[in-house]
Amino acid sequence: MYMVEEKKNSAKGKNVSNELSSLDTGQALESFLKALQRGHSDEIVQLFLEDQARNLFPKGGDTLKWLTDNIGKKATTKLIMAFARLECFNCKNGLRQCENCDGTGQFDYEMVCESCLGLASVPCDFCGGSGWASIDCIPLGLRLVVFGVRLESAEKQVESMLEERLPNLSEEKATAVFNKCVDSLFDLNRQISVLESTVGIELDMIEVPVNLEGQVSKITRKCVLVAVRGEKRLGEIIEAMIAACKLQSESEEKGSKMQKFVAARTKFYSALLNARPQFAGTYLEHPFLNEAAKRLIPNKDLDTRTQDGNEA
Ligand SMILES: [Zn+2]
Ligand SMILES: [Zn+2]
Repeated sequence: MYMVEEKKNSAKGKNVSNELSSLDTGQALESFLKALQRGHSDEIVQLFLEDQARNLFPKGGDTLKWLTDNIGKKATTKLIMAFARLECFNCKNGLRQCENCDGTGQFDYEMVCESCLGLASVPCDFCGGSGWASIDCIPLGLRLVVFGVRLESAEKQVESMLEERLPNLSEEKATAVFNKCVDSLFDLNRQISVLESTVGIELDMIEVPVNLEGQVSKITRKCVLVAVRGEKRLGEIIEAMIAACKLQSESEEKGSKMQKFVAARTKFYSALLNARPQFAGTYLEHPFLNEAAKRLIPNKDLDTRTQDGNEA
C-alpha cells in the first residue's frame, strides 16, 4: 500500500521521500484518530500495528512522546488501554479445559488429575494464564506502559481479593464453599500470572531507553511484592478447600464414588500445600516471580518465600 501511494505521488510530480512519508503519516494519523473516536478496540489495535509496520508510526523508545505530541494525552491513553485489555485469542480469562482428564478433574474417582489439580481447567499456555494478549502482540515502544497498566490493575484486584473473606463452612454447604474457593483460586492465580508475565517483559523489551531502565526494575520489584501476598492467600484458599473436602467426605455415602473422590482430593491438596517450595511443579508455582524475588528482594523482606527458600 505504501508503494502504491509513492508511485501515485511521484506521477503527480511530487517529490522527495521525506515529505512523502510525513504526508502519509499525517493521513495515517487522521484515520487513526477517527478510529479512536469510533472506539472499537480491535480496529484501533489493528490500525496501529499496520501503521507501525508501514513505518508511518515510530517503534522506538520515543513512541509514547510522539503519540502524546501528535494525538494528545487522552487519545494516547485510549490506545494504551486497547492494548492493555487485548484478550488472549486462545482462551477465556486465562483458562482452558484440561486435556489430560477431558475436563473431569479425576480418573475413576480414585485419582485426582495432577495437571489441573482436580479442577478440570488449566491456565492457558499461550498467555501464561493471564488471559491477556502476550507481549508479541504488543507494539514496540508501548510494551512498558501497557504492562505497567496491567500491573496496576492486577495489584488492585489482588488487594481487593485479599480484603474479601473466604467462604465459611459454618454458613454454607461444603460443596458450595469448595466451589467458591475454586473460583477464588483461579481468579487470584490469574492476577498472579499477570504479574509473572510482567516480570517476563524485561527479557522481551528489545529497546528500553536508558531513562526507563529504573522503571523496569521498579515494576519487577512491585510485581514480586504483590505476588508474595497473593501466593500466601493461595495457600489459605487451599486450606479452606481441604476443610470443605473433609466435611464433604463425612456427608457422602461410605464407599461411594463421590466419597472416594473427595478423600482423594483431601489427600492431594494436603500434599500440595506441604510441598516445598509450595505448589512445586504445578501451575500454581510461578518460577519467573520466584527468580525475580531471589534477585531483587533481600530475604528479610519476604515472608513465605524466605521460608520456602530455607526449607528447600
Ligand atoms: Zn485434568
Ligand atoms: Zn490465553
